[in-house]
Amino acid sequence: WRDLRPSLRESLFLEAANLMGTQSDRLTEILIDEVGSTVLKANYEVHHAQAFVRGIAGECRRLFGDTYRSDYPNVHSYCVRQPLGVVVAISPFNFPLLLAVRKIGWAMAAGNCVILKPSEVSPVVALTLAEIFTQAGFPPGVLNVLPGDGADLGDSLIVDRRVKKVTFTGSTAVGKKIAAKCAANMKKFTLELGGKNPLIVLDDAELDYAVDTAAFSNFMHQGQVCMTGSRVIVEASIYDEFLKGFEKKVRGLRVGPPRDPSTVVGPLIRSEQPRKIQACVDRAVVDGARLLCGGRYKGNYYEPTIVADVTPEMDLFQTECFGPVAAVTRARDFDHALQLANDSCYGLSAALLTNDLEKAMSGSERLQAGMVHINGPTIRDEAVVPFGGVKDSGIGREGGQFALAEFTELKWVTIQKGRQGYPF
Ligand code: NAD
Repeated sequence: WRDLRPSLRESLFLEAANLMGTQSDRLTEILIDEVGSTVLKANYEVHHAQAFVRGIAGECRRLFGDTYRSDYPNVHSYCVRQPLGVVVAISPFNFPLLLAVRKIGWAMAAGNCVILKPSEVSPVVALTLAEIFTQAGFPPGVLNVLPGDGADLGDSLIVDRRVKKVTFTGSTAVGKKIAAKCAANMKKFTLELGGKNPLIVLDDAELDYAVDTAAFSNFMHQGQVCMTGSRVIVEASIYDEFLKGFEKKVRGLRVGPPRDPSTVVGPLIRSEQPRKIQACVDRAVVDGARLLCGGRYKGNYYEPTIVADVTPEMDLFQTECFGPVAAVTRARDFDHALQLANDSCYGLSAALLTNDLEKAMSGSERLQAGMVHINGPTIRDEAVVPFGGVKDSGIGREGGQFALAEFTELKWVTIQKGRQGYPF
């Protein structure tokens, strides 16, 4: 696999993308059945995953090296990027198709073979993806799927000497354990972890757009997205007006079974999730926050919820709850908004809504996040960008050239023309 010509490797990825297109209905159905994706989310995920595979295909030709002017006389000096060998990819449940593609794609494009360990609750999506890659002509052994419990399988995969790198997407708690094991075993690792992402609305922002942006950033896939904009930070002068519009919008979001095309908010993945979220919301209210809407659940369905007047001391401000709960916080001014945004152990994505160019530029520089979106939602992802977080949100980047760098080892090579002279 490592020696396959780039054009052949590229054509395999393109064929896989085509097959994902012809089998998109099948993939959509599985995403609805297996992880409770709404029709909207499932379609979005399939489309996006296919676009990623196409993007990855193009990268197969871009394993670039470099040349250096050597200080040694008559020496040709350069470096090459070489695949690592076997990569273990561990993926979460929430976007099981898209994230599996992101985990395996660049690793394989760079010439590595991959063992994908999908979430224990979403093995069928991963196995179907592998089936499609096999149909596309990927040789046996290049992509391997190992379904099972992370805690049971994780250790042996990480410790095995044949595994050269672990790429992990999931919670920060598990990520830290994996990082410690990788370090002890001298393995490379990439971590894409949790977030509690700020969405800042400044007083010059267009209010209706801000409401729509906050709704999309909070309730896409029931808030089960690492980039969910679950800390909405609003400047004081427009705080009440924003809340009025936001509440109206959120009360209108339809909760229902995922297969119903009009559903916006479907079920949460695990039955214990609603209870945990409820406890977090209740605690915030006891501590002085205001419940504007939602705050109740039935089975796995948690109502889209807004909690206002949330402060940094509250758990709801600091903890990723991975559900449809927007915590809204009042900021005195722009500087206070940035201070609030940065008051978090996480640093994945951030959004800033403003028409003030200076504030947009200053905010993008000062926000402690791996990704900042001006006048857009916190949720954005595409194939060739450096996707990733800072602080407890992760280490390393996924996407395009940045991912190829993560999945290759640099080797420095020199070639001596003639003979070098030695001092003895
Ligand atoms: P999780 O951490 O519970 O599980 C993720 C994966 O790790 C699963 O495959 C699981 O089986 C495996 N795992 C669990 N314990 C393990 C261990 N001890 N050793 C090895 N593997 C182990 O996460 P989840 O509930 O599936 O997903 C939600 C989390 O993922 C959230 O925190 C979310 O923010 C994060 N996430 C991050 C990104 C990103 O790109 N930054 C994207 C999606 C989700």
